[in-house]
Amino acid sequence: MRERFFRPKSAERLETSTMPAEVFGERVFDDKTMRQHLPKSVYKSLRRTIDRGEHLDPAIAAVVANAMKDWAISHGATHYTHVFYPLTGSSAEKHDSFLTPDGNGGAISEFSGHMLVQGEADGSSLPSGGLRSTFEARGYTAWDVTSPAYISDNAGAKVLCVPTVFMSWTGLALDKKTPLLRSVQSVSRAARRVLKVFGVETQLPVTVNAGMEQEYFLIDRDFYLNRPDLLIAGRTLFGARPPKGQEFEDQYYGVIPDRVISFMADCEDALYRLGIPVKTRHNEVAPSQYEIAPIYEQANLATDHNQMIMTVMHKTAIKHNFAYLLHEKPFAGLNGSGKHVNYSIGSEEVGNLFEPGETPHENAQFLVFLCAVIRALHKYGGFLRASVATASNDFRLGANEAPPAIMSLFLGDQLTDVLEQFRAGKVKGARKKRVMNVGVDVLPPLPADPGDRNRTSPFAFVGNRFEFRAVGSGMSAADSVVVINAMLADSLDFAAEFLEKEISSGTALGAGVQRLIEYVMEEHSAVIFNGDGYSAVWHKEAERRGLPIYPQTPDALPEYTSDAVIELCGRLNIFTPEELRARRDIYLEQYIKTVHTEASLSLSMARTDIYPAAMRYQRELAETARGVSALGMDADTVLLKEVTDLLKRFDTAIRKLQDLLSSDPVSAKDRRAADENPAKAPDILLKEAEYCRSFLLPAMGELRACADTLETMVSADLWPYPGYQEMLFVK
Ligand code: ADP
Ligand code: MG
Repeated sequence: MRERFFRPKSAERLETSTMPAEVFGERVFDDKTMRQHLPKSVYKSLRRTIDRGEHLDPAIAAVVANAMKDWAISHGATHYTHVFYPLTGSSAEKHDSFLTPDGNGGAISEFSGHMLVQGEADGSSLPSGGLRSTFEARGYTAWDVTSPAYISDNAGAKVLCVPTVFMSWTGLALDKKTPLLRSVQSVSRAARRVLKVFGVETQLPVTVNAGMEQEYFLIDRDFYLNRPDLLIAGRTLFGARPPKGQEFEDQYYGVIPDRVISFMADCEDALYRLGIPVKTRHNEVAPSQYEIAPIYEQANLATDHNQMIMTVMHKTAIKHNFAYLLHEKPFAGLNGSGKHVNYSIGSEEVGNLFEPGETPHENAQFLVFLCAVIRALHKYGGFLRASVATASNDFRLGANEAPPAIMSLFLGDQLTDVLEQFRAGKVKGARKKRVMNVGVDVLPPLPADPGDRNRTSPFAFVGNRFEFRAVGSGMSAADSVVVINAMLADSLDFAAEFLEKEISSGTALGAGVQRLIEYVMEEHSAVIFNGDGYSAVWHKEAERRGLPIYPQTPDALPEYTSDAVIELCGRLNIFTPEELRARRDIYLEQYIKTVHTEASLSLSMARTDIYPAAMRYQRELAETARGVSALGMDADTVLLKEVTDLLKRFDTAIRKLQDLLSSDPVSAKDRRAADENPAKAPDILLKEAEYCRSFLLPAMGELRACADTLETMVSADLWPYPGYQEMLFVK
């Protein structure tokens, strides 16, 4: 099978080259387009809803819908869809044409206000975690005015796409966008409360900004189609390490191959037209691994755009005969892919609230926001860990190439030192004449750009924003942004209340801030860690500090229903207890299904491809030995014996995995109990997930170990799959 004579395909642009600025936003119903196509009063009313979060005036919907339709038709759109983001993590869409019969045998194009504002999706086949049993299958989609409509081009079939939220008929969130919008409101409210303490009155909401760096692998499609594991599981379940991997460090920022550049350029062209401000592209650390990053935008828009980036890149890769791999760990032994979420809050009015200012007053305000982050991550690090818990991300987190599964905060030495001075009370009386009650005046200038860039921390302060690096490459960023928003809103409320109390009891603002910093450092600085997150020492130290350590998904997901998280999300109106429970269950189910699928696939690949290939080789060796002996020469049977022994071990591993797959970890009695009274029954999903982790995954590991050793022995022409070497280095 091994493709010895593979001819790389030539590099070719499929789209004509355009200047980004010329086509930018061409297919978006954006501000400029709205202004052109909407009556002034309607435009203004819509803008107020978008910018200030005011209620949408239902009276304008029909006008907007009609304008949108005319604009979409002028661009060749024939259909429209409500795009939503169910808990599967992908985008969902159901297309309807604009066509409406006119009653006289003809037809007109129609898109009413109602069609724009609300849709009904029979979502019975989408995950709901019990929030919507199938007999009440109706789910509703509702227009999200803050994310503009756009036209998607699917090989010429153009569709008007309206971003929406998706909920059950009782109003429970069934998607990723609803809690995101709720949580942004919470942060905004809490941030404005803190600003008010500093005498900053705001008219506009404070917004959350996010910039997602997206990593991915790109390999030739012919190889991909010859690997059932890549095709079905998105990662290689087998594959011996190639002699050359990433150890030469010659890949990161290396020259991008032309064939890859032409793919990237075509992606970017499509993304510019969709108004997505892609900015950066480069080679990543592993061979055939790359990154794309747009400029940051409001979190909701950035999340939608990230989803669109993944879709567009996937489609464009097919046109270029590439496979676009978004799995967190497609190749064992090489770096996996993540999605770094750069996060900040602010507005035009108040600027970036994570920007350390020039003056002491700004510094004080910055330090309060910083303290809120410290407290937030210390209190709810476990919840944040849960937001990135998936079967595929388990292979990446903590694998010494990505942040560990322990949530800690990197601040850099300088900033940490400033905060430590407060705790030690050393800033008191120091440096300048004017001292205590304006304690913050004596601060040294804060570092605007921490010189040391630490790559081993999951949550790092990087000059004027935080970078959360534990999100998986293929995941929606929404879950993590929701958690960051929730925990930050809680701590901003805490800080505001703390300062409000201090002030009302006569303390000056500066001294109040000083006390707040002292308090936060005393109670919560355990979460700050500036050292090497990959080291074994850190695990011990983190344990000593009492930080939650959740190595794998089954450890992390129960956080969704911990008392603290239920209380937090309820208080901030981000999730009801039912919604949290549903999420926990759905994500556990996804984990279980993923492991089961991979286990079955491993088994079938082992049995129907790998074992037969190795047996053929064994027969060749045996026949050779027999032939050699027949000629009266000494036959060397060392290799034959080695292969035979390995085949035996492989056979045992196959049987073991098969047995494990066909037995049920949950007793019939427990299942009955769950049917009768789910609330009181043993936690069946958790049991199944534990079984996957403790039995199925290790058994797959043993199967792989045998197969990978065989791959290094069996004649290459008999091996059924393209190897790591071809996949990673042929471009
Ligand atoms: P690096 O690889 O050095 O971390 P990149 O330039 O690849 O940085 O990506 C940084 C991301 O952070 C970009 O999406 C960028 O727009 C985003 N970003 C920059 N400033 C902010 C900010 N204030 N808030 C949120 N995201 C930001
Ligand atoms: Mg980068």
